[in-house]
Amino acid sequence: MKYFDAHTHTNFVAYDEDREEVMKRSLDAGVGMNVVGTQIDTSRTALELARRYDDVWATIGLHPTHTSKSYHDTKELGEGGREFTSRGEVFDMNAYREMGKDPKVIAIGECGLDYYRLTEDTKKTQQDAFVQQIELANSLGKPLMLHVREAYEDSLEILKTHAKVRGDVHFFAGDWNIARQFLDLGFTLSFTGVVTFTHDYDEVVRNAPLDMLLSETDAPYITPVPYRGKRNEPAYVTEVVKAIAGIRGEDSDMVGLQLMANAARVFSIS
Ligand SMILES: [Zn+2]
Repeated sequence: MKYFDAHTHTNFVAYDEDREEVMKRSLDAGVGMNVVGTQIDTSRTALELARRYDDVWATIGLHPTHTSKSYHDTKELGEGGREFTSRGEVFDMNAYREMGKDPKVIAIGECGLDYYRLTEDTKKTQQDAFVQQIELANSLGKPLMLHVREAYEDSLEILKTHAKVRGDVHFFAGDWNIARQFLDLGFTLSFTGVVTFTHDYDEVVRNAPLDMLLSETDAPYITPVPYRGKRNEPAYVTEVVKAIAGIRGEDSDMVGLQLMANAARVFSIS
C-alpha cells in the first residue's frame, strides 16, 4: 500500500455492476481502503468486502441522516432502498457490537450529526444515536469515523463529554477555528476530491500539521479533477493526495507517504 482511501463506499449499489474491477484497479494501484457503512445493511456489506481482500478494512455504524425517515439516495441503496430508509433505523447496539469485534473493523461510523436536512424533533434522535456509537467505540477501543455537517459545535460538545477514543473527521468542511478544536482533541481531518476544484479549504489544509491529515474519496460521490463527470472510485485518491501536496507546497511523494503512515496510525493497521 502506498496510498490510503480513508473513507469510501464501494459497498454501495453504485458498484453492483463492476465492484470486483473497481476494487482490483485500486489495489493494483497500491491504494488500500476503508469501506464505510451507513446503516446495518451497508455496514454488513462493508465488512464482507473487507474480509475478502487484503488492504481493505471496514467501518460500521449508523449515519445521522439514517436515524430519521427522510433520507434516500439511489447511489447508496438503489431504487428499492426507499422503503427501508423510509422507516429510519434505530441503532441496534448488540448487532453493531458483534460486527465491531471483527479485527477487520477499524472504526465506528460513519456517525455524527447532520443538521443540513433537519427538523427539530430529529436532532435528539441523531444525538442519541451518536452518543451510543461513541460508547460502542469506547468499549471496543476503536476510533470514530465522524460525519458532521452544519453541526460542528454540538459535535465537539458531545465528543468532549463522551469520547475516550479519537478518530477522523470525514469530509471536513469547517473553517480553521473549528479545525483547530478537532485537532486539539486529537482528531485527524480528512479531505476529498473537493480540494481538487475549490480553494475553500486551503487555509485548513495548509495550517494543519501534516501528520493530522488523511486522504479519502467518499466514492461514489465528489469525483476529483480530472475525472469530474465520471463515477468516483478509490484509485482516484492519488489526485486528492496531489492536491493536498500542491496546496501545502510540498513534495507529493513525501505527502503520500506521510498520509499513508497517518492512516496506519489512526486505524492501527499495517
Ligand atoms: Zn460517507
